Amino acid sequence: MRHRIAVIGGGPAGLTFARVLHRHDHPVTVLERDPAPDARPPGGTLDLHEGLGQLALGKAGLLAEFQALSRPEGQAMRILDTDGTVLRDWQSHPGDQANPEIDRGQLRDLLLGPLDVQWGRGVTEVVPGTRDGVLVRFADGRQETFDLVIGADGAWSRVRPAISSATPHYTGVTLVETSLDDVDTRHPDLARLIGDGSVAVYGVNRALVAQRNSGGHVKVYAQFRAPLDRHMGLNRRAGMDTGLDLADVEAVRSSLLALFDGWAAPVLDLLRHGTAFVHRPLYVLPVSHTWAHVPGVTLLGDAAHLMPPLGAGANLAMLEGAELAESVAAAPGPGDLDEAVRAFEEQMWARAGRWAKITAAGLERLVNPDPTAALALFDEVQPS
Ligand SMILES: Cc1cc2nc3c(=O)[nH]c(=O)nc-3n(C[C@H](O)[C@H](O)[C@H](O)COP(=O)(O)OP(=O)(O)OC[C@H]3O[C@@H](n4cnc5c(N)ncnc54)[C@H](O)[C@@H]3O)c2cc1C
Repeated sequence: MRHRIAVIGGGPAGLTFARVLHRHDHPVTVLERDPAPDARPPGGTLDLHEGLGQLALGKAGLLAEFQALSRPEGQAMRILDTDGTVLRDWQSHPGDQANPEIDRGQLRDLLLGPLDVQWGRGVTEVVPGTRDGVLVRFADGRQETFDLVIGADGAWSRVRPAISSATPHYTGVTLVETSLDDVDTRHPDLARLIGDGSVAVYGVNRALVAQRNSGGHVKVYAQFRAPLDRHMGLNRRAGMDTGLDLADVEAVRSSLLALFDGWAAPVLDLLRHGTAFVHRPLYVLPVSHTWAHVPGVTLLGDAAHLMPPLGAGANLAMLEGAELAESVAAAPGPGDLDEAVRAFEEQMWARAGRWAKITAAGLERLVNPDPTAALALFDEVQPS
């Protein structure tokens, strides 16, 4: 029996779910709000862990293609003191496939493959339990019904309210992201500072992290504690309150340079040469977010368990997508489908709950009044 299944959102969770279901010859409708795959910049680089994201890619039959595209050398990690002294310098070893990096855009294209995504289909509301199944309403006024609707629509999910009243809350930490292009030719000193992977500098309640992507592109993340009001100010149009306009690149740059005043000049060059700035206040869902099971609707990835960006979110999202797809493909009748989803949710909650605790504690240590707390964390998790 073919269930009518829709996945809302074409991020790592939704695409992995759809790709694995497709591999099992089960039809799936993928509904994505973006009007096209390249409608907005895809974001930075993701490290995919052997037992999480890579396991999911194996279930999708995409592991060999991932290995051809990914960058094992991107696992290299260097930590500097704020005066520029190198405190730690972990190199990657040839053949180390534990956590290779891949650009988000490359991962998206790999997962998209033959999938027939419906672009420009923003969902506004999901209503379970109608006579014809689960009703999905779209921003353009249309509506459709399905047997199972998967909310893989990220932090600000429009599916989540159908089954849970939880909403994300601010962690007290924000990132301001900037980029460098052609770093090897345009900024060779910074290229050397960053190395093959990442460089991180930890100070009092703030950090600067630069990560190499493919093609000489680098993402730089300034991380700091600040009340949400300040961030709102950062986002406001120029002239309002005391806040900054993020589109005013030089004003944001000056503000960040003041925040990191006294740090070594080569480190601050990461901000001096950055292009546009993107504001990312970090929100999370409650650490052990669960819900009373609702037949016909479930959540995956950030929609289910938004957590600090410490290398787990996309990995969990993908593995959940793959596991749910396998369970759904193996469920012959409607009762089996609901049982499969229910069992999947229990498994997801247990694993995501563990990671949510780890990443919440990790964020506290990485953006901490005592910078040695960050160093100690890396000493615990990096292979010696
Ligand atoms: C700076 C940063 C660095 C990170 N680095 C890592 C890392 O190295 N490793 C890692 O594992 N994780 C990392 N993460 C976390 C990771 O990005 C997320 O956990 C992951 O993207 C979650 O995937 P998802 O598919 O659940 O949601 P998303 O990636 O948010 O995808 C949701 C999709 O749903 C679509 N959508 C939203 N609303 C609607 C709607 N109403 N209707 C239809 N479609 C909709 C969106 O357009 C989007 O395509 C990082 C996060 C940040 C911010």
